[in-house]
Amino acid sequence: MWSVSVRRSEAKSPVPDPQPRLEALAARVAELEAERELTLRLAQTDSLTGLVNRGAFTAELCERLDAARAAGRPVALFVVDLDRFKHLNDTLGHHAGDLLLAEVGQRLRDDAGPGELVARLGGDEFALISDDREVAARAQRLLTCLSQPQTIYGRVVAPGASVGVAVYPDDAGDASDLQRFADMALYRVKIRGGRRWSAFDAELRAENLRRQTLEAELRRAIPGGEIEPWFQPVIDSNTGRIVAVEVLARWNHPEQGRLLPAAFVPIAEELGLIGQIDEAVFETACARAAPWVAEGLIESISCNVSPRDLLDPAFSRKLIGRLSRTALPATALTVEVTETFLLQDFALARRHIERLAAKGVRVALDDFGTGYSNIRALMSLPIQTVKLDRSLIEAVGRDARVSKLVSAMLHAARTLGVRIVAEGVEHEAQALFLRAAGCDRMQGYLFARPMPAEQVEVHLRGSPLMDLAMPPSPALARRRHG
Ligand code: C2E
Ligand code: CA
Ligand code: CA
Repeated sequence: MWSVSVRRSEAKSPVPDPQPRLEALAARVAELEAERELTLRLAQTDSLTGLVNRGAFTAELCERLDAARAAGRPVALFVVDLDRFKHLNDTLGHHAGDLLLAEVGQRLRDDAGPGELVARLGGDEFALISDDREVAARAQRLLTCLSQPQTIYGRVVAPGASVGVAVYPDDAGDASDLQRFADMALYRVKIRGGRRWSAFDAELRAENLRRQTLEAELRRAIPGGEIEPWFQPVIDSNTGRIVAVEVLARWNHPEQGRLLPAAFVPIAEELGLIGQIDEAVFETACARAAPWVAEGLIESISCNVSPRDLLDPAFSRKLIGRLSRTALPATALTVEVTETFLLQDFALARRHIERLAAKGVRVALDDFGTGYSNIRALMSLPIQTVKLDRSLIEAVGRDARVSKLVSAMLHAARTLGVRIVAEGVEHEAQALFLRAAGCDRMQGYLFARPMPAEQVEVHLRGSPLMDLAMPPSPALARRRHG
């Protein structure tokens, strides 16, 4: 039916001249082509600075290394990071930060020689690919170019920058190593105060080797059960009894002996292995602690989770699943999270915390007092416990302002119905002050250091860790009677 009607209409109309239609078609194709190019260019361009973005930069670096390999030429990669950018952004506002970044982009572009490529890798990090053989002079020129002052909103700012350099083929043979090595050089400059440049050198090569060894060892250690949970008692300020334990990972390294988290947690986070460590430690810890809870020796155990894992949308569901396969009741588990995590993705943080709370798992805010100490976040989330950071506790009794602050925090927590655990209590004077100020729970070397399961068990069945001669605090006494 349809085909007949088409044929009829063809028969009626005169044959059109194909030329204009072809031209229109060609014009449309050109338009689409231009659109496609624009889209492609936009996808490769950082919109703020107009520089090549990270994705396009990586592809370009690979191409340039291929060409250099064929021609037997060296290529230098400079990574640039602005100093104090975060401070500027925080004090002058994001718009001022954007203006500064755009200016930096412009300067780097103006300064670049023929054949050099400048990219913005993200945030305040930039990169330059160059075949300039005078690496030191080129790096110095970058620093000079970025140290010139600039006026933003009437304020003169001179951000200054740090630069790390790695050279193909002397330092690295491929793009990913070259980037990693330049980053290592940059990082070393940053931790030494910035405003300089540094090349990848023998010291960093040794450091790289050490990290690679550590990585290989970690990958073996996790399934091998070399990383185990230790437990640090948390005591009730009033009775001196252990009421909970915090689980802290220890690595029994076959050659190096027992390693603290500082020696392996940061690198495990970087390598994406921290989740596996937390899982292994969690499972063993639950198995060890479940009988203590069942016997009523402690109320709960606390486990640390890495901010990195919390960014996984499935984190809370997975944790609940894992928990259900242990003998530990959900109400006996506290998950310790840091503020960094709340700030990274507040909506996701809320989802995780609510999901855990719905199952009866408690959430504690760790290291409180080191970051933004966000009371608003606390009030809007079902967080029942806050751990006051050791840095605050350390100054309690020594610095009158900190003592007042801690008292005020304890007061605020009581008003909000939040429990406070004071961390890092090392001296009796601190304990007495905290107890008088109404702090329910304490943890620290004064009472007990982290220890293996067998040793905790001895303490759990033994006498209280705190001298009960300490008079109970008036605040606690009032609360118990009121
Ligand atoms: P954190 O969660 O703040 O743990 C408290 C740290 O303070 C522990 O260090 C503990 O041994 C130490 N500490 C306790 N009382 C005192 C004291 O009175 N004085 C002093 N100077 N220190 C005290 P540790 O075990 O070295 O752990 C360091 C950090 O590593 C932990 O800080 C936590 O952020 C992380 N971590 C530990 N275990 C794990 C784990 O299984 N998974 C993850 N993701 N992180 C972990
Ligand atoms: Ca903790
Ligand atoms: Ca802590």
